[in-house]
Amino acid sequence: MTEEYKTTAIVMSVVDYKEKDKLVNLFSLELGMITATLKGVKSSKAKLKFAGQPFCFGEFVLAKNGAKFTITSVTIIDQFYDLTTNYDHFMLASQMMNMIPSVLKDQSIADELFLVTIKTIRDLTYENIDGRICVIKFMLEAFKIAGYSMNFEYCTDCGNSFTDDKYLDIDLGNFVCSRCVTMHGKLLPPKVFDTLKDINAHDTEQLLNIDTKHLTECLNVLITNFYYRFGKKLIDLITYLNA
Ligand SMILES: [Zn+2]
Repeated sequence: MTEEYKTTAIVMSVVDYKEKDKLVNLFSLELGMITATLKGVKSSKAKLKFAGQPFCFGEFVLAKNGAKFTITSVTIIDQFYDLTTNYDHFMLASQMMNMIPSVLKDQSIADELFLVTIKTIRDLTYENIDGRICVIKFMLEAFKIAGYSMNFEYCTDCGNSFTDDKYLDIDLGNFVCSRCVTMHGKLLPPKVFDTLKDINAHDTEQLLNIDTKHLTECLNVLITNFYYRFGKKLIDLITYLNA
């Protein structure tokens, strides 16, 4: 018994499968993370070839047989083709995609996370902006959506407004004040904290003139917190940032 599904989805990654097929990992607005087979896509005449490209975003029609999905047609919304012409933005978009399986533990947040994902890829493709800002924004939003909002106004431990130094407490996964910091606290340089706070408070469109000096340090703070929150070390992103 074959069922048909229509879903808005984006291709996260693709692997070769059997002689002529591909397995496509999709992030779907309605179904969350799923894997679907793309048949005969390696032949030169394959009409759905484009659906086997990362970042292909569209309306997918899927046939479900048992537990297996097969892609039967796709109406493209955007292939984000321009992303492939900007190495840094392509790398950062790929790293962002790597985070999604860790964040999406609960299907109830799939739609919110999906919208933020598409917004981030649009920004990386079309906005003339430092790509690190887009990934920082994505990570802050992902924490929020998963129920781990980072708190920039007051100490997560005592609740008092910040007046002096701020620390990232990796046990709490949040910022604490100098009175509450423990041996697990990591001091944040004021400029790093302020840059993160600024990005957290604004849309990417409002951040075009932000000071970019501290963006890598900001990302390192979020990478540490990501590991604490979701148990995944973002090794490829760390390697990219330090290259
Ligand atoms: Zn405190």
